[in-house]
Amino acid sequence: MTLPWPEGAHCLVNITIDYDGLSNETGKNLLPVGRHSHGRYSAKRGVPRFLEIFDKHDITVTFYVPGYDAECFPESVLSIAEAGHEIGAHGYLHESFDLGDEEPFYLRKSHQILTDLLGKAPIGWRNPGGGKSDQTLRVLRELGYIYDSSEKGSDWPYFPVLAGEQLTDFVNLPDNVSSLDDAPFYRESFTPPSEVLEQWKQEFLMAYQEGAYFDLILHPRMGFGSGGPARAKVLDDLIAYIKSFPGVLFQRQEETAHWCLQNPDAWPSRRNPRTRAEVQA
Ligand SMILES: [Zn+2]
Repeated sequence: MTLPWPEGAHCLVNITIDYDGLSNETGKNLLPVGRHSHGRYSAKRGVPRFLEIFDKHDITVTFYVPGYDAECFPESVLSIAEAGHEIGAHGYLHESFDLGDEEPFYLRKSHQILTDLLGKAPIGWRNPGGGKSDQTLRVLRELGYIYDSSEKGSDWPYFPVLAGEQLTDFVNLPDNVSSLDDAPFYRESFTPPSEVLEQWKQEFLMAYQEGAYFDLILHPRMGFGSGGPARAKVLDDLIAYIKSFPGVLFQRQEETAHWCLQNPDAWPSRRNPRTRAEVQA
């Protein structure tokens, strides 16, 4: 069954890049040198390489940037925004752990750093690989965010439920960190890039046949990321493959979120019947 996406598209694609520079190791109290220096690659090589690929294909995407990385590499982050890509928030020191009572402080801190650097507040957030709490959504909404790309309860956008009430001013744009994320392939199994490309082609083909939402996650760093030449070529080849299908729309996630909020009747009732699994707090 074909369902309507924006502009009558048959399949909606969000490419998302988690910057994950020095914050990743520094947040774990590791000195980012030697074998802990993979994060430096994002600013020096990975981001410029990704930007070339997106420019070649004439698409704009969403980058999630930890506040600490924006402090370390402001020119790099500004180059992303100047190329027309969206910047979303991704923690301060890539806190891939539960922050407890300090969570609101770090959400606000990273929000302010990005706002000051870009002259524009981020409206999207992705958790840095770790915990959310019953405070997360409340604080994000206070700060003006309209979407979260951290939930895994569906492969379609859906409204969260907060304190028993289904929100209609905030949307989950789910992220698949199992099979549409480079990190598990390169960190856990060291899968050859050619096999990763085949996996993602298969994932896209099935999503396309469902007329679905396709959110791909990559990292511009070394180590578990795709910043290097052969792994970045997977991104290049996959975009070319996706573009060979008719009716595919590439969007930044902020565009998708706005569309979802402005067209609540076009989704999600048919696509995502409310379940208890959607309740977040
Ligand atoms: Zn990350």
